[in-house]
Amino acid sequence: MADNLKPTLVWLRDDLRLADNPALTAGAKIAAPLVVLYILDEMSEGIRPLGGASKWWLHGSLDALGKALAEQGQTLVLRHGPAQEVLLELAAEIDAGHVFWNRRYGGGERAVDAAIKTALKEKGAAVESFQANLLFEPWTVRTKADQPFRVFTPFWNACRAQTPRAPLPAPKTLPAPLANLRSDDLESWKLLPTRPDWAGDLRANWTPGEAGAQSRFQAFRAERLKDYAAHRDEPAADASSRLSPHLRFGEISPFQLWHGVSPEALGDTAKIRQANIDKFLSEIGWREFSWHLLFHQPDLATRNFQPRFDAFPWPAVNETALVAWQQGRTGIPIVDAGMRELWQTGFMHNRVRMITASFLIKNLMVDWRIGEAWFWDTLVDADAANNPASWQWVAGSGADAAPYFRVFNPVLQGEKFDAKGDYVRTHVHELADVPAKHIHAPWKAGGVAGYPEPIVDLGATRERALRAFAQMREDD
Ligand code: FAD
Repeated sequence: MADNLKPTLVWLRDDLRLADNPALTAGAKIAAPLVVLYILDEMSEGIRPLGGASKWWLHGSLDALGKALAEQGQTLVLRHGPAQEVLLELAAEIDAGHVFWNRRYGGGERAVDAAIKTALKEKGAAVESFQANLLFEPWTVRTKADQPFRVFTPFWNACRAQTPRAPLPAPKTLPAPLANLRSDDLESWKLLPTRPDWAGDLRANWTPGEAGAQSRFQAFRAERLKDYAAHRDEPAADASSRLSPHLRFGEISPFQLWHGVSPEALGDTAKIRQANIDKFLSEIGWREFSWHLLFHQPDLATRNFQPRFDAFPWPAVNETALVAWQQGRTGIPIVDAGMRELWQTGFMHNRVRMITASFLIKNLMVDWRIGEAWFWDTLVDADAANNPASWQWVAGSGADAAPYFRVFNPVLQGEKFDAKGDYVRTHVHELADVPAKHIHAPWKAGGVAGYPEPIVDLGATRERALRAFAQMREDD
C-alpha cells in the first residue's frame, strides 16, 4: 500500500467532540481510511481510575460521540486496557501511516503518550499531537524570572495579554472507516451503575455529549451570562454555566468558550456588561491555572503544594463524622444541602463546594485528601487538576490559597449567599417548612424533628483548627 493510503489513526481521550478537535481535523484532511479510537485505560501507571459519577458521564459521552460519528459514516472503535499496549497493537493491526491526538497534561498521561510516540516513530508512523484542551500551554506561561506562576492574578494577566486561536469547525466530511475492525461493546465496560441504579437524578439533570454541551452553552449565553457576576455565588440562582463536566470530558473546548463570549459572537452586547464576560473568562482562567499547577506538580492530589503543610497535625479520622459529612447529616443546613446535592446530582455549586470543604478540613479536622477523594468519586465534573487544586486552595496548602486561618462560617455563608434558604430547602427536605430567619441555624430555634443537631460546635472547632495551624507554624 502506498504510504499516503495507509490508514490514519485518531486517538480521542478527554476531547470527546467533533468541533474544534485539531487531531480529528488533521485526520480528516488525509486521503486515507480513518480509524477513530477511544481506549478505556484503568491500568497504566500514573493514570487515576475514574470515580463512579465520571464513569456514568463517560458512558453517555461515548454513546453520543459514537452516534455523531455514525451520522458521518464513521465508527468509534472502543478498546480496553493499558493504552500503550492497546494503541500499538491497533496501529500495527491497521498499519497506521499517521497517528494523531490532542495533548494531555497529567504526569501519568504524558509519560504514556511520550512512550507511545517514541514507539510509533520507531515503526515509521508519522505522529503528531495538538493543543486542544488548554488555551495556553503550561510551559509557555512563565514569570519574568522564567518560573511557573504561583499566584493567579498575574498568571491570568499574562494569559489575557494573548489571544488564543479561533476554534475549528467540525470536519464537513470524514474519510471512510476501515471495515471489520474489532470494537468493544460500550455496555460491556459496565460504566453505568446497576445494583443499585443511583443515576436517576443524574439522567434528569444532565445530557452528556457535544450536543448537550453546546445547548447548555447557548442557553447560558442567552439567559444567564448577563447576570453572571452578580449572582454566580448564589447557589439557588442557577446563574453559572454548569459546563464543568462538559469541559472535563472535552465535549466543548475552552477556545469555543473564549471566542463564544467575544463581542462579535455575542452580537448585541448592550445587555451583557463586560464585567460578566471578564468574570466568566477568569473562571476559565482558574481552570487553566489549576492545569498549569498539575503540569508542574503531577502529584497535586496527594502532596501539599506548600511543603510546610506536611507538618500539619491531622488527628485520627472520626469515621462517624466523616460519614455524616458524606451523607449530608451534619446538622449544618448549608453543608448538608451541598453534600446531598452532590450525592443526588453529581454536582455541587462552587460556593457550597468551598463551604463543605472548609467544614470538613477545619471544623472536622479531616485531611483535605480524604475530601478530595470523595469529590473525585461523586462529581460528574471530577477533574484531575481542578479538584485537588481547589481542595488545596481551601485547605490553605495550595497555590494562591485562602489562608488556613480563614475558616468559613457556614451559618454566615448561608445567610449571605442563600438568604431566603431556597437552596437548603431544595435539598434538605426536613427543613422545608423552616422560615428563612432560622433556616441556617435551626438549633438556635429549638431544632427540627427528624433533622440532626450539629455534630460539632462551630466556634470550638474553629478554635481547635486555628491552634493546630499555629502549632504547624511553630514547628515550621
Ligand atoms: P462556571 O462558574 O460557569 O465557570 C465556568 C467554568 O470555569 C467551569 O465549568 C470550570 O471549568 C471553570 N471553573 C469555574 N470555577 C473554577 C475554579 N474555582 N477552579 C477551576 N476551574 C473553575 N471544578 C471542576 O471542574 N472539577 C472539579 O473536580 C472541581 N472540584 C472542586 C472542589 C472544590 C473543593 C472546590 C471549592 C471547587 C471545585 N471545582 C471543580 C471548581 C468549581 O467549583 C467548578 O468548576 C464549578 O462549580 C463548576 O460550575 P460551572 O460549570 O457552573 O462554573
